[in-house]
Amino acid sequence: MNSLLLNTDGVQIPQIGFGVWRVPDDEAERSVETALEVGYRHIDTATLYQNEAGVGRAVRASGIPRAKLFVTTKLWNTDHERPEEAFEESLARLGLDYVDLYLIHWPTPARDTYLRAWRGLEKIYRDGRAKAIGVSNFTVETLTRLLDEADIAPSINQIELHPYLQQRELRAFHEANGILTEAWSPLGQGRGLLEDRALRVLSDKHNRTPAQIVLRWHIQLGNVAIPKSVTPSRIKENFGVFDFVLDQEDVAAIGAMNIGKRLGPDPDQFN
Ligand code: NAD
Repeated sequence: MNSLLLNTDGVQIPQIGFGVWRVPDDEAERSVETALEVGYRHIDTATLYQNEAGVGRAVRASGIPRAKLFVTTKLWNTDHERPEEAFEESLARLGLDYVDLYLIHWPTPARDTYLRAWRGLEKIYRDGRAKAIGVSNFTVETLTRLLDEADIAPSINQIELHPYLQQRELRAFHEANGILTEAWSPLGQGRGLLEDRALRVLSDKHNRTPAQIVLRWHIQLGNVAIPKSVTPSRIKENFGVFDFVLDQEDVAAIGAMNIGKRLGPDPDQFN
């Protein structure tokens, strides 16, 4: 399994993580158990998902040393003005002493509270309760403002990113500023994208599923990707992307699929 180095001293993030959005608590516990058995070592949850407890149960019961696991959770929009309290509540639900990565879930620019929230994340990081801190759904504009004001730069920005929304400008901005790119909805939520003809061609060429082709593309782009599934066979399939390589032509064919199609909210509008 590949890992990438965050701009935080020595912290490595496994490039493929396991997402649990819209998975109820008990099912999240079972899915995370399966994911850990298959080999995933990185789990992505959030306060919003209401399954931190289930994720924590699976992580703690796994018997895998805590230092070998990477757990992310996120600060919800209504908690920007109480980040430290909200973080402690997340830790308590997870039943963990620290998380590997804590993110501001959305910038919610109309509220104008993300700088206040970031001060809290910096404190949490300095106290060692989060090994790394970052953001999610930030744009070039909100990231620029954050970088201007912050003592500690965010290590990662988790954004909607898949072949239909390739986020080239934002990825270039991340690269120029030492921020890793993490893709949410990396499979474009499955429907539509995975039936695209261009992906079927590559699927036939490599004898891999369209989901595996897309995840391999993320890896070769240098993204972290956090596919979600509750189906054991797919959980396994989505992790089987470390033993083949797309060539330049394949990467160009996926590059040509970019139509700027957003599946989730526009971060400038979302509050
Ligand atoms: P995704 O792109 O991971 O797609 C998941 C869906 O694709 C599944 O529900 C299933 O229907 C299908 N699928 C999964 N594996 C498949 C396979 N091998 N073959 C065929 N179909 C398959 O979408 P997602 O769940 O929206 O995103 C993944 C994770 O990203 C979430 O679980 C969450 O952790 C994170 N996320 C974060 C934010 C944010 O605002 N930060 C927003 C959305 C999602």
